[in-house]
Order: sequence, then structure tokens, then C-alpha cells
Amino acid sequence: MARRMQGGLSERHLTELSKLGPPRFSQHPAVTGDAHIRFYAGVPLNTKDGHTVGTVCAIDRRPKSFTARDLGILHKLAALAMDRIELLQSAATDSLTEALTRRAFKLDSEQLISLALRHQHDLSCLVLDIDHFKTVNDTYGHAAGDAVLKTVAAICKTALRAGDLFGRIGGEEFAIVLPHVNREGAAAVADKIRTLIASQRIEGDFGSLNVTASVGVSTFTLVAKDIETLLAQADAAMYQAKHDGRNRCVSWTSLPAGHGTWARRRVLKAGTIVFNDRQSSIDCTVKSLGFDSAGLSVSSSAGIPAEFVLSIKGEGFETKCQVIAQDRQTLEVAFR
Ligand code: GH3
Ligand code: MG
Ligand code: MG
Repeated sequence: MARRMQGGLSERHLTELSKLGPPRFSQHPAVTGDAHIRFYAGVPLNTKDGHTVGTVCAIDRRPKSFTARDLGILHKLAALAMDRIELLQSAATDSLTEALTRRAFKLDSEQLISLALRHQHDLSCLVLDIDHFKTVNDTYGHAAGDAVLKTVAAICKTALRAGDLFGRIGGEEFAIVLPHVNREGAAAVADKIRTLIASQRIEGDFGSLNVTASVGVSTFTLVAKDIETLLAQADAAMYQAKHDGRNRCVSWTSLPAGHGTWARRRVLKAGTIVFNDRQSSIDCTVKSLGFDSAGLSVSSSAGIPAEFVLSIKGEGFETKCQVIAQDRQTLEVAFR
């Protein structure tokens, strides 16, 4: 853009400019300081609904003249940039609920998690699943189901702060990342959202209905420090909430096997961890076993991927697992 701006501002132009109004930038640090900016032309980036989200600008250290044609080019550039921003935005946003898509949610979560790691601040994650949603669709129709999804998303958004992340990670499943929020704070947010949902009547051509949701809560720790693990823990806690009767919140607690949120029986079984397209395997001891999870002990957890197949030979048992907590010699896994 700078190449297109030729010549300096004439004395006449400068005089005219100074008559146009207050010299807005004359005391700006970029003008008075080392940057020594002497030329600035900017066109705002406006969304379709009129919000300014940025500026496309041309800046130089020497005075420049700027023709109507140059200004036209800057406007075209701004429109192109805005099209691109809106395209990226729409790919990142679910059109029905305006929540982030699963992919965008994970990408943004990773950024918030690396900030939490760097600055050692709290961060929590919620997974929310609407209860008996299939029945809503079956009883009132798909349009009613869509209205429920929209309403639940709107309720979640009202309960969240500007810096929180809100994503739709499945059909009727939403996830939330709360930076600077610890386990207790996250449990409070979860319960606030759950209560708001349960008390909201949803009206439409289909009549009037209300729904409930089950929420799982997980919190960033030195073991759970990536979004996959946080989501897996919150998901496991959410399934526990379903199991306990729905319309409730459960926090993931990484207590010793058998004392966790799942009912697990203590066992001592020889198992095999299979991964790398079945090319690699590591022996383990299955120490506790539940309906949807297990506690394993290994000689070393190093090199074991976050997802693998667990096989217990004597029982003909084989299932896909996701690691939800680990230390040097133990793994807690949720069955997928
Ligand atoms: P639970 O309480 O155990 O969560 O039961 P559920 O009925 O909510 O769970 P299930 O997973 O059996 O049903 C989810 C349903 O969500 C099935 C699917 O048809 C519906 N669904 C997924 N995406 C959409 C959507 O965009 N709109 C509508 N209307 N329905 C959807
Ligand atoms: Mg559901
Ligand atoms: Mg579901």
C-alpha cells in the first residue's frame, strides 16, 4: 500500500487539514516519539451489523498525499479483509447456536491453557449435555429441538464472562472453558447454568416445554493440562451426573481408584495396552474396573499415548480408552 502513496502533503493541504478540526494525532506518542509517524490513512473494518473490529491503515514516517483513488483502494482492501474475517468467523461458529465449533473451541482453549500454564493461574472446563434430548425431538419435532439448543446456548452465554469460551462440541453437548476460575468457582458456574436451564420455559409453534441438563466440571492441574484431558474428565463427570439421575452437576475428582466418582470394583487382572495401529503393546495391571473406566498400573507411563485400546485377555474384554489422569506408574482411563 505504501508504494501507492507518492509525494508529500503540501503546505496548503496541511493548512487545510489543520482547519478541518482538532489535530487528532498531533500529541500521539507515535507522532511525538521515536516512531516519528507523519502519515496515516485508515479505513475501519466494520461488521455487517455495524461494529468496528479494527482498521486497515497505511502509515509512513514521511508526509504523503493520498488521492481519492488511493482511498478507494484502501476501502477495497478493508472490504476484502472483512470478508476474510467473516469467513473465518463463520467457519469457527455454529450457525444454529452461535457457539464455537468443536475445532475452534479446541484451538482457542489451547491458547487459554498455555496462558494459564505460563502465568500459573486457574482454569476450569465444563461439559454440558441436555437431558433426554432425543425425547424432545421425538415428541415435539426437530424444530423444537433446535429451539431448545438455541435457548440453552443463549442461557450459557448470559452466565459467562467475555473471556470465557463457549463451544458446541456435539449435537446437544456444549463445552465451556473458564480462565481464572478454580474448582469451586467452576462448580458454582455449572450450577448457575443448570438452574437457569431448568427454570426456563421454551415456547414456540410446538407449544411450551422445558428441559434440564447434566454438567461435568474439570479443573486444570499439572496432570490435566491439555484440553483433551480436561474435556475427557469433564465428560466422565457429566456421565456420572447422568448416572446419578440427570439435572445435576458433578466435578471430576482424581481420587485413588475405587474412591473416584465412578463406582469401580477393585480387581487384579493382567491387561495389555495396545496402540500405534496395533503395532505396539505394553503390559499393565488392571487395578480397578468400572462400567466406563479403569485404573491401570504400568512399569512406566512414558510413551503411552493419550488414546489406546485396553485388552483384558482372560475376560475377552477389549475397549478404546482415553487417559484422563496419569502419573509415573498409574493411569486412569475412561472407556470411549
Ligand atoms: P441423555 O439424557 O442420556 O443425554 O439422552 P439424550 O436423549 O439427550 O441423548 P442422545 O444422545 O440419545 O440423543 C441426542 C439427540 O440429539 C439425537 C439427535 O438426533 C439429536 N440432535 C443432534 N443434533 C441436533 C440438532 O442440531 N438439532 C436437533 N433438533 N436435534 C439434534
Ligand atoms: Mg443428551
Ligand atoms: Mg449427548
